Amino acid sequence: MKKVMVIGAGQMGSGIAQVAAQAGLDVVLHDIKEEFVQRGLGVIEKNLSRNVEKGQMDEQEKQNVLQRITSSTSLENARDIDIAIEAVTEKMEVKTGIFRDLDKIAPEHAILASNTSSLPITEIAAFTNRPDRVIGMHFMNPVPVMKLVEVIRGLATSDEVYQKVEDLAKTMGKTPVEVNDFPGFVSNRVLMPMINEAIYCVYEGVAEPEAVDEVMKLGMNHPMGPLTLADFIGLDTCLYIMEVLYEGFGDSKYRPCPLLRKYVKAGWLGRKTGRGFYTYE
Ligand code: NAD
Repeated sequence: MKKVMVIGAGQMGSGIAQVAAQAGLDVVLHDIKEEFVQRGLGVIEKNLSRNVEKGQMDEQEKQNVLQRITSSTSLENARDIDIAIEAVTEKMEVKTGIFRDLDKIAPEHAILASNTSSLPITEIAAFTNRPDRVIGMHFMNPVPVMKLVEVIRGLATSDEVYQKVEDLAKTMGKTPVEVNDFPGFVSNRVLMPMINEAIYCVYEGVAEPEAVDEVMKLGMNHPMGPLTLADFIGLDTCLYIMEVLYEGFGDSKYRPCPLLRKYVKAGWLGRKTGRGFYTYE
């Protein structure tokens, strides 16, 4: 594994590109517009500068990491990659379009991975002619800080591909955990209903957002409350995931809280838009 293309230069894609470059891989950071790639690169630069200030790396190392990342707005740049890690918007039609195109462009040996939070890997893989080389590589946010990578085996994912991705996650300084392909995998099947229930507490007037978060922080020893976490993840992403769980299991216990729908419709998506359950400067 020498060259990785990260598709989507948003919150997750920029973090994945950063840790891959820090691990010594050549990285192509791809998005639909150059300004989106530049925004992602700006975030990486800021993170690395913070590491330099803290004495965790020197200026030369920072420059070396940045030089390993090239920008892209054309999927044709996937011609010589060893792996693609897709981290675009959580929408099936967007992801499957990318996988279909990548399958035509990327070399035969290349692995096609998705950072999806909840969409079925098996279904994404079916849009390619190499379902054995399609896998889920679910990083946590913020990627440079969080250790876990949930590695999701699709129905057809080969053992060889699983092993290579597990090794890559370790090279990137992460701890891979093997999971099978069911809606929400493990992380979001457990986390999102908890966040959704916290939103119901606000919706039904059980408590104010600050109180809900305080209970979970002090009572359950969580490092941050579920509503702070939801704002951090993005309320649109939370809603997509709840809808995937609701549809995937057909069980009413996963129905998204109407207040979550309302906030997303209002454009209150959390930190990224300056307003969610809390307001941000
Ligand atoms: P984001 O909105 O910050 O970034 C998405 C990026 O994808 C944007 O820059 C957008 O321009 C780009 N994009 C959209 N369509 C594209 C296309 N056709 N080709 C190339 N680029 C395209 O979203 P995010 O929070 O980084 O989430 C990305 C993925 O990671 C989603 O699948 C999400 O479920 C998953 N994820 C998110 C989190 C989280 O906490 N935010 C955690 C784990 C996994």
